[in-house]
Amino acid sequence: MHPDIGDPDDEATTNSFVYTLQYALVAGVAARYQVESSELGSEVIGEGLGRRILIWEAAEGGLGVLRRLVDEPDALSGVASLALEIMHFDPDTGEDMRPPEDEVHGCARACYDCLLSYYNQRHHRLLDRHLVRDLLLSLKGGRVRVEIAGRSYDEQCQWLMSETDSRSALERQFIDHLYRTRRSLPSHAQMHVPEAECTPDFAYEGLHVCVFCDGSVHDQPQQQGRDEAARRRLRELGYRVITIRYDRGLEEQIAEHPDVFGEGVRP
Ligand SMILES: [Zn+2]
Repeated sequence: MHPDIGDPDDEATTNSFVYTLQYALVAGVAARYQVESSELGSEVIGEGLGRRILIWEAAEGGLGVLRRLVDEPDALSGVASLALEIMHFDPDTGEDMRPPEDEVHGCARACYDCLLSYYNQRHHRLLDRHLVRDLLLSLKGGRVRVEIAGRSYDEQCQWLMSETDSRSALERQFIDHLYRTRRSLPSHAQMHVPEAECTPDFAYEGLHVCVFCDGSVHDQPQQQGRDEAARRRLRELGYRVITIRYDRGLEEQIAEHPDVFGEGVRP
């Protein structure tokens, strides 16, 4: 995570901001996934504008919560909302529920009900909940945008399924077979290649591979001619073209290209 730390020349404020954000996020993550803060390790690394907050799972074998933070689009928003609550702010309005003026419950900068703990004593003097309120309010309104490469395997499968041509059962069978044999999934579905005037059913972009799933309609002579022309153009552009046919076994055809699909395991 790369927080906008404001004026990088103001070292003291920057320090306060970054450390407060660190403990606020850890508290939010712990609350969302019901783990102890002490099960999450965290540290501020780097210098100046290159500073990052590193959070890791300290428990042996991991807790799986940080993975979910990336996989669940609303996770970071939920974490921000909980962090605000923990720091006595109304997560919707940002209103301070325990203003410093309140002599009984007031929390000036940080207290043991919010950010302070026995474990972060060395940073107590730096922590100030007011510094991160606005950032957390804007994080709360955001969603994690997961890049294709960052999608989990399951999510990528679901996404590909949602992109398949509804008229093509073969496309879905192909993806389903890759998934069940734990093979590599395409990076793209219906990726239009303007220079070749065609839209391959699937592509492995990094490998420059296009995959077509040909149902019986592709056996009609007219369609055959169009297909061949488009695939020739793709090959001229440097793509490798793999055709998966409806009238041959999927496993047999997929196994012919282990360098693209991987070796796979028995479904
Ligand atoms: Zn407090």
